[in-house]
Amino acid sequence: TKKIRIGICGYGNLGHGVELAVNRAEDMELVGIFSRRDLPGTASGVPAINLKHVLEYKDKIDVMILCGGSATDLIDQGPELAQHFVTVDSFDTHPRIPEHFANMDAITKANNTAAIISVGWDPGLFSLMRVLGDSVLPEGKSYTFWGKGVSQGHSDAIRRIPGVKNGKQYTIPKEEYLEAVRSGKGTDAPGNEMHLRECFVVPEEGADLQAIETAIKTMPNYFVGYETTVHFISEDEFAKNHSGIPHGGFVFRNGKTDDTTSHVMEFSLKLDSNPQFTSSVLTAFARAMYRLHFEQGKSGAFTVLDIPFALLSPKAPADLRKFML
Ligand code: NAP
Repeated sequence: TKKIRIGICGYGNLGHGVELAVNRAEDMELVGIFSRRDLPGTASGVPAINLKHVLEYKDKIDVMILCGGSATDLIDQGPELAQHFVTVDSFDTHPRIPEHFANMDAITKANNTAAIISVGWDPGLFSLMRVLGDSVLPEGKSYTFWGKGVSQGHSDAIRRIPGVKNGKQYTIPKEEYLEAVRSGKGTDAPGNEMHLRECFVVPEEGADLQAIETAIKTMPNYFVGYETTVHFISEDEFAKNHSGIPHGGFVFRNGKTDDTTSHVMEFSLKLDSNPQFTSSVLTAFARAMYRLHFEQGKSGAFTVLDIPFALLSPKAPADLRKFML
C-alpha cells in the first residue's frame, strides 16, 4: 500500500524528533526536511531543502509537519503553508490559540486543505484528558501539574541575566498538593503555589552570585509568586546532569456521582525528552490528518479534540476492536 509522504518544516528539537518518529513509522515516508537555513545535511540522510523551494514539493508531500517555534514562526508559517499542504503544528501559546485556529480555518477552507493545530502533550494529550474528565465527571474539579521538567522559556530568561553563563530551570509539582489531589481530598491552591521552580546556574568567573539569585527571584511574570530555589554549579556538573530536556506532568479529574461516592481520574507523563515525545504525538496526528483529508474528504482546521482515536493508529479498525477495545 501507498505510504504517507511527510515533509518537516523547521529543523530544531521538534524537527529532529519528527525525523526519528517518521523514519520509524512503517506506513510513512519522509520526503525531506525544509529549513530557512541552508542545512549541511540531516541526521538520517533525507534531503535537506531550503524552505524557498517548498512549493516545488506541493504534489510530492501529503502532510507537512510544522516544527517551528510558537513565539514567532508558526503564526506566520502556518497560514502560508496551509494554503498548499495539509499541516500539523504544536502551537502552544494558549491565549492565541483561538486566533491561530481562526486563521488556519479560513485559509484551509479557502484552499481545500486541512490543518490540525496545537498538537503535542500540553496542548495535546493533556487537553484530551481534561475534556474526558470534565465530560465523564461533570460534578468535580480538574487539576493540571507540570513537571518535573525543563521550562525553555524560564531557562532562557535566566541565561539573559548578567553574569550567567548557562542556566536551566525545572518546574516541579509540590508533593503535598499532588498527594492531596491524588487522595481525592483536593485543594483550592492556585497553580503557582502547587509548583516550585528550581534553577541551576553556571556563573561567569567573578560574578556576583547574590545579585544573580536576587535577579532570578524578583523577575516579574517568571518567578515572582513562586517558591524558587537557585543552585550555582560548575560547567562540568551542568554538562553531566542538566543537558537533557525532560518533562512531564499530571492531569487529574476528581468528581462525585452522588453525595458520598467520589472518583479520581489520573493521567501522567514522565518524559526523558519533551521534544522527542511531542514529535511522536505530531507524527500520529499526521496519520489522522492524512486519512481525514485524503480518505474522508474533510478540510478546515482541527484540534486534537476533533480527531477520532482510531485514525491515529496504523492498525486496522477491526484489529483495534479485537485487541484494544
Ligand atoms: P527550536 O529547537 O528552537 O526550533 C524552532 C525553530 O528554530 C526551528 O524550526 C528552526 O527553524 C530554528 N532553529 C533551530 N535550531 C536553530 C539553530 N541552531 N540556529 C538557527 N535556527 C534554528 O524549538 P523546538 O524545541 O523544536 O520547539 C518548537 C515549538 O514546539 C516550541 O516553540 C513550542 O511552542 C512547541 N512545543 C509544543 C509542545 C506541546 O506539547 N504542544 C511541546 C514542546 C514544544 P529553521 O530550520 O527554519 O531555521
